[in-house]
Amino acid sequence: MQGTMMNYPLTLTSILERAGHLFPKQEIITRLPDKSLHRYTYADFYRRARALAEALQKAGLKKGDRVATLSWNTYAHLEAYFGIPAAGGVLHTLNLRLHPNDVAYIVQHAEDRFLIVDDVLLPLLEKCRADIKPERVLVVPLTGQPIPPGMGLESYEDFLASATGDFDYPALSEDDPSGMCYTSGTTGKPKGVVYTHRSTVLHSLGSALPDVLNLSMKDVLLPVVPMFHVMAWGLPFTGVMMGSKMVMPGPHLDAASLLDLYESEKVTKTAGVPTIWMGVLQALQKEPTRWKLQPMEMVVGGSAAPETLIRAYDQFGLKVLHAWGMTETSPLGTTSRLKTNLQGGSADEQYAYRATQGIPTPLVEVRAVGESGPVPWDGVSMGELEVRGPWVASGYYRLEAENDKWSPDGWFRTGDVATINPEGYVKITDRTKDLIKSGGEWISSLDLENALMGHPAVKEAAVIAIPHPKWAERPLAAVVLKDGAQATAEELKKYLEPKFAKWWLPDAVVFISEIPRTSTGKFLKAQLRDQYKSWQWESA
Ligand code: AMP
Repeated sequence: MQGTMMNYPLTLTSILERAGHLFPKQEIITRLPDKSLHRYTYADFYRRARALAEALQKAGLKKGDRVATLSWNTYAHLEAYFGIPAAGGVLHTLNLRLHPNDVAYIVQHAEDRFLIVDDVLLPLLEKCRADIKPERVLVVPLTGQPIPPGMGLESYEDFLASATGDFDYPALSEDDPSGMCYTSGTTGKPKGVVYTHRSTVLHSLGSALPDVLNLSMKDVLLPVVPMFHVMAWGLPFTGVMMGSKMVMPGPHLDAASLLDLYESEKVTKTAGVPTIWMGVLQALQKEPTRWKLQPMEMVVGGSAAPETLIRAYDQFGLKVLHAWGMTETSPLGTTSRLKTNLQGGSADEQYAYRATQGIPTPLVEVRAVGESGPVPWDGVSMGELEVRGPWVASGYYRLEAENDKWSPDGWFRTGDVATINPEGYVKITDRTKDLIKSGGEWISSLDLENALMGHPAVKEAAVIAIPHPKWAERPLAAVVLKDGAQATAEELKKYLEPKFAKWWLPDAVVFISEIPRTSTGKFLKAQLRDQYKSWQWESA
């Protein structure tokens, strides 16, 4: 017997069509470089995204051709998110925080044919222009300034104006590629992940679910997470699919600019990395009555969210939702909402759950794998987190050598180390390469860091493994104190004592002014390890 259902392809063009027809009056607001607000509607967005698709086709774009973007979160970037895949092209977002050599490598590796760039980012493009040869470079005039002549640059606006509106989408299969991102690893060359129309549509549906990000047409969504990093966690697709009002912060990611937008546009959902939320929290604590905010949910991911951050925002009536994911997982893998049977627990228990990375989204499976196979879901046994699902990558683009990242039975090895508790909550304890193994036993650097960041004087802390003659490795904590705050190493160790087994406590605490970070804001522990590798242990 055969099913009797349509084999309807899951493509981004259906999302674009729905948005254009059902929500023409919904707004999209962008903060421009001069801080003024650009406002238009879904009707404008729909027309312009289709114009981009048509103009790209007329310029000779063939199915599967890559179109790169070097852009902030703006209306034009949103047009590229839909217009490029609607033309059959592959949206390739370039991370503007990478070293120009890496950007050049990525453009060459992906063989980008066209490039769309914000005018304010032209100086950045100049730094790698000699090494890359896109056929056409389209400049988005965010400042309204004329485009510099004689450099092979064209106006994005003129390009759109060449479209007539007489345009049909090319025939698209749901397995056609729609977008690509390169992972910004701390070692080795960046690795490309290619998303398909199908994986993107399913990821959008999965993300929008009430128990996941809970996005609806009633929401006002402000993605702080850059559209050049893992597709802004898919939020541009999910928000447009639902018909949410979209608020784009442009290049202004400082706390006051964000808080102003939250207030003026009545934002209900926002998303970003812990560093951003720490800055916003400090601003709120400094001037608690300055901004009148709506009840807002703040998705945090990319690095672990300390429990203290979640608690502190509750005081302002703002709900932090912890989520975990990776470039290779589109990225949403887990979100930490409390299951109903856990809602009767004490406040401390509930916070402890909310601080975990959470339970897997529908259609995503997780397991933690130790030396002899998957470890039990007991909340204690650690193993490498492996995942599989319809929006998880099955390989890297043109990079066979890395294929040991997939297990023989088809799971993706994340490189994160985790425990899973009997309720299914995943808790990331480390990156495999950042693990600390003392006397044959694992110590979780993330647990120590989160606890240290609960100390009132501590702004940030990174805990790393340092070679030790007796224990193989011992933890060293590198701590950044808050402005004007003071604490001694002894005091911080005492603070940790009641929370951890004695052998987990860092043997050394050093005070530094700043923790080195990757281009996407994650702690660059390799650099710290290098800096302190010859540390002389007093007791050794
Ligand atoms: P990226 O591909 O750049 O998004 O980086 C993915 C990596 O970020 C993951 O493998 C984790 O190591 C880390 N990560 C993402 N979300 C979280 C989280 N909520 N808690 C801890 N680490 C996270």
